[in-house]
Amino acid sequence: MDIKKVHIVIPIVMAGIIGYFGTEIMDIKKVHILIPIVMAGIIGYLGTKIMDIKEVHILIPIVMAGIIGYLGQTDLNEAFSVLPSIPHISRPSSQPVRQVDLDETSLVISRQTDLNEAFSVLPRMSYPQPFVDKPQRTDVLLMSPWLAPIMWEGTFNRDILNAQYRQKKFVVGVATFAVKKYVRFIEGFLGSANKFFLSGHRVNFYLFTDHPEKVPSMKLAPEKSLFIIPVQNYSRWQDISMNRMDIISNRIRTHWHYEVDYLYSMDIDVQMFEHIGVEIIDTLVGTISSWQYTKPRDSNSYERRPESRAAIPSGEGDFYYAASFYGGSVSEVYKLTTACFKGVTEDRANGIEAKWHEESHLNKYLLYHKPTRLLSPEYYWDEELPRPQIIRVKRLSSVRKDLEEVRS
Ligand code: UDP
Ligand code: MN
Repeated sequence: MDIKKVHIVIPIVMAGIIGYFGTEIMDIKKVHILIPIVMAGIIGYLGTKIMDIKEVHILIPIVMAGIIGYLGQTDLNEAFSVLPSIPHISRPSSQPVRQVDLDETSLVISRQTDLNEAFSVLPRMSYPQPFVDKPQRTDVLLMSPWLAPIMWEGTFNRDILNAQYRQKKFVVGVATFAVKKYVRFIEGFLGSANKFFLSGHRVNFYLFTDHPEKVPSMKLAPEKSLFIIPVQNYSRWQDISMNRMDIISNRIRTHWHYEVDYLYSMDIDVQMFEHIGVEIIDTLVGTISSWQYTKPRDSNSYERRPESRAAIPSGEGDFYYAASFYGGSVSEVYKLTTACFKGVTEDRANGIEAKWHEESHLNKYLLYHKPTRLLSPEYYWDEELPRPQIIRVKRLSSVRKDLEEVRS
């Protein structure tokens, strides 16, 4: 054989062998085949043309192949450090992938998806610019001393709130009770709530009743659902009212914890007349009572007897909160209802009942666990009261009732 051809053929064959065994043994693919072939070809060709050297032509590709094989075993990214290092492209491995790697990967992927989503539908909108030296209202308190905002008509833009809230895909639960004669309030409550409560957003109404057959069939908006839950009645109306805390707490533990993000407890003997929207959504939310919102703390009707677990010492108290409407995140409402019912149970064991039942316990709880947001008396305006100027809208009102008749 012509010496020239041998110089070309030998390195090519060598390179082929190295490349083949490279992929078999070393778990490295194309690079190992291509590099020695190209190198050997060049050396073989130049060698015969220019240098007329014999053994070197065989040795060089062997040495080259050896170097490439060695580098391949270490790390390609390291060896060719000029190449950008891509962490997720590592050497293929025959080792089984650990579960934790999979989880980490899917976490990264889901975060990336969230980011893409967040930037793909930006809620761009035009609205009047806010100015720090132009407060929306000066006739009412807009912020509590612990920096919880207080919701008043004229202080927020509902469109902005809705656009922000819609991105979160929350489900809100409403717990309400219609026991004994209170079934008569179901239609007015649900009819108005369907229209005005979190309009356009997902809401599950959970209606506890001892008369499921008396629940009127009503057509609700597609994003609203009604769940009817049978419940026993008690002879004393105070017990029906107080036991709501226990029933809500238990139901959170068994169901709502998995079903909803936020939960609100509302009286059934109310009607809504204006929107109650996503401005009510926060971690722990209390409503300032329409009866006592301007009174000094010592004339508010807190429980003051130290024997009751609901007792608030004289000289303490922020606002007087209505038990007819409170709520927050499911976990915060769980803590609240569990703590309040514990107080009710201990009072029962001690033969005492707080002045305004569970409302007294709620007031004590919210004094020491400050609400993160407050609803002004617009959110529970008592029907019997004349409306002062600062109450610009009556969003929700109690329905007039003959107390003796309806509670008998
Ligand atoms: N409740 C009920 N049946 C009763 C008494 C009370 O279903 O016989 C429930 C109902 O949801 C009601 C709430 O407990 O809205 C609180 O009672 P009520 O409205 O009478 O208290 P008030 O608002 O007058 O303080
Ligand atoms: Mn009521």
